[in-house]
Amino acid sequence: MPESIDQLRGAIRGEVIEPTDAAYDEARKVYNGMIDKRPRIIVRCADVADVMAAVQFGVSNGMLTAIRGGGHSGAGLGICDDGLVIDLSRMKGIRVNPADKTVRVEAGCVWGDVDHATHAFGLATPSGFISSTGVAGLTLGGGIGYLTRRYGLTIDNLLSVDMVLADGRFVTANADENADLFWAVRGGGGNFGVVTSFEFRLHPVKMVQFGPTFWPLHEAASVLRAYRDFIQKAPEQVSGFFAFLVIPPVPMFPEHLHNKNVCGIVWCCTGSAEETEAALKPMRSVGKPLLDHVGPAPFPAVQSLFDPLFVPGLQWYWRADNFKELSDEAIDRHVEHGSKIPTMLSTMHLYPINGAPQRVGKNDTAYSFREALFAEVIVGVDPDPANAQKISTWCKDCWEAVHPFSAGGAYVNFMMEEGQERVQATYRDNYQRLVEIKHKYDPKNFFRVNQNIRPSE
Ligand SMILES: Cc1cc2nc3c(=O)[nH]c(=O)nc-3n(C[C@H](O)[C@H](O)[C@H](O)COP(=O)(O)OP(=O)(O)OC[C@H]3O[C@@H](n4cnc5c(N)ncnc54)[C@H](O)[C@@H]3O)c2cc1C
Repeated sequence: MPESIDQLRGAIRGEVIEPTDAAYDEARKVYNGMIDKRPRIIVRCADVADVMAAVQFGVSNGMLTAIRGGGHSGAGLGICDDGLVIDLSRMKGIRVNPADKTVRVEAGCVWGDVDHATHAFGLATPSGFISSTGVAGLTLGGGIGYLTRRYGLTIDNLLSVDMVLADGRFVTANADENADLFWAVRGGGGNFGVVTSFEFRLHPVKMVQFGPTFWPLHEAASVLRAYRDFIQKAPEQVSGFFAFLVIPPVPMFPEHLHNKNVCGIVWCCTGSAEETEAALKPMRSVGKPLLDHVGPAPFPAVQSLFDPLFVPGLQWYWRADNFKELSDEAIDRHVEHGSKIPTMLSTMHLYPINGAPQRVGKNDTAYSFREALFAEVIVGVDPDPANAQKISTWCKDCWEAVHPFSAGGAYVNFMMEEGQERVQATYRDNYQRLVEIKHKYDPKNFFRVNQNIRPSE
């Protein structure tokens, strides 16, 4: 068991990075530019053996330990001050099994890596909306994206994980082996150990029908009311998230719309062009759209479309909630605050999560909000640290106004560090079982840089 740094260096095939190393400042950067933490040691693991050695080193030295997958956590939970970071970003192996329609993915992959590998076989699994997001963190929190209405949350397509536990053991968790652990990692985040690889079910997705419909802000209330009613009855192959946004000044959009505050729906549908055209008809007759363009696109291109806008290092401040319904009054509050977006990149999204996720019971996985219609995220984003206050104030004000209409808890991956009460509100009646499983696998709460589930005393 490596106890000193020299022993650790000897045990590791990857890199051990300390504050005096040239690579340190680059290695401690995470996606959210608001987070500026200084760990004592970063272990960039090359393989599972490195992960085992790093965990043993952290435990034997009693170090605060963070796990880093893609580094996208809004709250900066992939890094810590004055502790150990187990950085998996070098572990990028992917093996597609086209016959079984499954893929095995190592924990350092981002979704763009997976989409690239599976697209060659005309296959995909539900993930998110930005290709640079880490597979690990997104999956362990649940996973909401373009394919969710049709094929479920990312965890609904998770078949098995390999993990290193706090006691140093390497285990597999799936429906047959360590089933309690498998239940817990499907929504319970990084609380139970370091996942070193994931196995997912794949679906036949190659081309999708993609594009936005934008409306002027004065039509936002009627558009959102129509969308609320539409999405509850729409076929599951239709997906599209509602947004308040500022149209970015990029060549993709007509110049007269650049920098305009609008509302819109970003569609991504897995049916044919004809089926999509017919299905979207009711929404297209609402008001007078400023822009309406839905057409065929390869799925990985859709997944990475927003990457050039949302580059690493921007300031991010998040708030979130789940909604079972949207009353007219709730819509009015959304319109009031969504119309005041403070900077070009800030936005408010309502992701539809009805459909396939609702065919899984609310106690079947740690993720519990199966009856919700929307997962909402409100994000203040800007490159300039001088605007940090402005974006976080808008985000909090907006959340305060709409939260009373929500279902109570949020999607853990869209939360900042908001305290135990919020974590419990999110897991609801699954929380107690999570506490018991945490107690069984991590009784000393070694893995606590996360939306923490505390072990029972
Ligand atoms: C620009 C952007 C877009 C996003 N879009 C979506 C979206 O469309 N859908 C969606 O569902 N979410 C989305 N998210 C939220 C995203 O799911 C979370 O931020 C998620 O935590 C990111 O995972 P990561 O591996 O990149 O993060 P990290 O910061 O590396 O880790 C986040 C958390 O996961 C834990 N963790 C990471 N790797 C492991 C591992 N191997 N084993 C155990 N625990 C681990 C860490 O301990 C930490 O608590 C987005 C985030 C950003 C910044």
